[in-house]
Amino acid sequence: MGVIRFRKDAEGSGVILIQRGKEPDSLLKYRKSTPGACYEELPAKPREDIRSQMWEEQRGLCAYCMRKLDSYQAVRIEHYLARNPEDGEYDAASTLDYKHMLGVCYGNSLQPDVREEDRTCDAHRGRTKLTVNPYELSSIRKIHYTRNGYITSDDEDIKRDVDETLNLNCIALSLPESRKGALERTQRELREMCKNKGHDAYVRALRSRYKRYVVDRAYTPYCGIVIEWLEKELGIN
Ligand SMILES: [Zn+2]
Repeated sequence: MGVIRFRKDAEGSGVILIQRGKEPDSLLKYRKSTPGACYEELPAKPREDIRSQMWEEQRGLCAYCMRKLDSYQAVRIEHYLARNPEDGEYDAASTLDYKHMLGVCYGNSLQPDVREEDRTCDAHRGRTKLTVNPYELSSIRKIHYTRNGYITSDDEDIKRDVDETLNLNCIALSLPESRKGALERTQRELREMCKNKGHDAYVRALRSRYKRYVVDRAYTPYCGIVIEWLEKELGIN
């Protein structure tokens, strides 16, 4: 989100894909060998394996804000389905379901005395339930970007998720500005590359950049806004 988009058959669909692999062996082993296993008691080794695998699968980006996570140690394990939802029961098995885990950033929560409005991602979300579903294409497709780098949606619930619950338009962390910067850098680069080469060359360059994202899955920080722009330029819906 940004929100990284999850999809099983994304080739050629024009959607960012995170391919969730099999859960780490150490997690499987813990689940199978421990009666009443739950996330809170998960030992250090599987936690580390989860962080490391998610970091690879998400190409080093936070699943929510799409900022760069320098290493797997910078990954925080987030549960898409809140472990202790505001209105529900604790479900131990689901807390250990790798497919419900997301790799996210610390959302500015490591600094002392950070104001609530200056936190992002799960550090801002708390236990609030999300409507936007990173595993569902139709849901993610409802997220859009403004020219100034803000995330928005015509769906009121999803808009609340990104804007209020996850605080993905946080000014203190320059999120809109960073997105806008990522888009402008790409536009400048493509213009430079195709200078004096005509329209066909420009379209080829757009296609090639687009392929790099959606087929090769070579994601770059905040590339959601870039992909949306490429899709508009190429007439991809
Ligand atoms: Zn984040």
